[in-house]
Amino acid sequence: MAVFASKSFANHDEVVFWHDAQAGLKAIIAIHDTTLGPALGGCRMWDYATDDEALEDVLRLSRGMTYKAAMAGLSLGGGKSVVIGDPHKDKTEPLLRSLGRFVDSLGGRYIVAEDVGMSVADMDIVRRETRHVAGVGERGGDPSPATAWGVYNGIKAAVQHKLGREDLTGLSVAVQGLGHVGMHLCEHLAREGVRLVITDLDGEAIRQAQECYGATAVGPDEIYDAEVDVFAPCALGAVINDETIPRLKASIVSGAANNQLAEGRHGKALVDRDILYAPDYVINAGGLIYVSYEVSYRGPYFDRDLAMAHAGRLYNRLRDLFARADAEGLPTHEMADRIAWERLEQVRGARAQRR
Ligand code: NAD
Repeated sequence: MAVFASKSFANHDEVVFWHDAQAGLKAIIAIHDTTLGPALGGCRMWDYATDDEALEDVLRLSRGMTYKAAMAGLSLGGGKSVVIGDPHKDKTEPLLRSLGRFVDSLGGRYIVAEDVGMSVADMDIVRRETRHVAGVGERGGDPSPATAWGVYNGIKAAVQHKLGREDLTGLSVAVQGLGHVGMHLCEHLAREGVRLVITDLDGEAIRQAQECYGATAVGPDEIYDAEVDVFAPCALGAVINDETIPRLKASIVSGAANNQLAEGRHGKALVDRDILYAPDYVINAGGLIYVSYEVSYRGPYFDRDLAMAHAGRLYNRLRDLFARADAEGLPTHEMADRIAWERLEQVRGARAQRR
């Protein structure tokens, strides 16, 4: 297992391994960058086939968090952790408490939150061993509603930019995935008179969206052909690819899913088809913004309204991003990377000057 030679190693500040045989915990924390503040990022529990696979994942994901926090304007760095194991079989209180001690050993340089395979209830257990944890039940809890609120506002920004309309009434949106984020998104869209086309693998979720929001259901593969104004991927990564791009009827792609572009070149392919893309890590930052309020406002109360209002301001961030991408002739995902990088460089530069 070569860390520095890994293709996902990107000048990470710190990569730490933890093995607690008694608790059955094997975990890795990767802190990519702390220029803007302590590294905050979720802990993913997954039955990785090899340790190398887990390492690649944590390196890649932690780097993504640096860019996400920077673009969201937060005073947070990028980090992530992975636990090697099956969350359905291997997750126990001793394992979670050991994870808490691992996080605590870093003295606040890394703040853990939930991710795939972890829940709010798990973070409550982790908190018994460390205060460096966000997304706990007694404070903010599940960040998904904030993610959905951010995505809804991001769709409005994209519609304003692309179609010149301030409201969504009468438009149509295809929502792929009706999970924690997708279902909340449907609620916001339906309230504004949007015609919804939906899909999921879960029949119960489909029934709920049909009954509550009058949505039209299509099969999982048919969603790409839907005659809609906006395609909102809220399930899987890599759904924007060589096979799907020619099929899209929407003029806007903006949804919650992580890593929507199968490869970077697919961002340019969307531009070539005159489709506006809201970069995933920008539009889905509402959850991160929300949990950041647990970290930065250490008062006795978590101010949910303030946190949700901040997530809603992704509208302005995306408007600025789209305008700058146009002005500089860059695909939006490249523009987002550049803006994030500029912010990091400015703060690094200001620090160096003070010394
Ligand atoms: P979730 O697991 O609650 O929901 C995903 C839904 O997608 C499920 O209902 C699942 O049945 C459905 N699905 C899976 N495969 C599908 C397919 N092939 N076609 C149609 N539907 C399919 O996840 P979530 O928390 O709602 O997150 C959705 C996406 O947004 C993920 O990519 C996640 O990484 C990303 N995201 C979530 C958050 C958050 O706050 N939850 C924050 C940022 C990014």
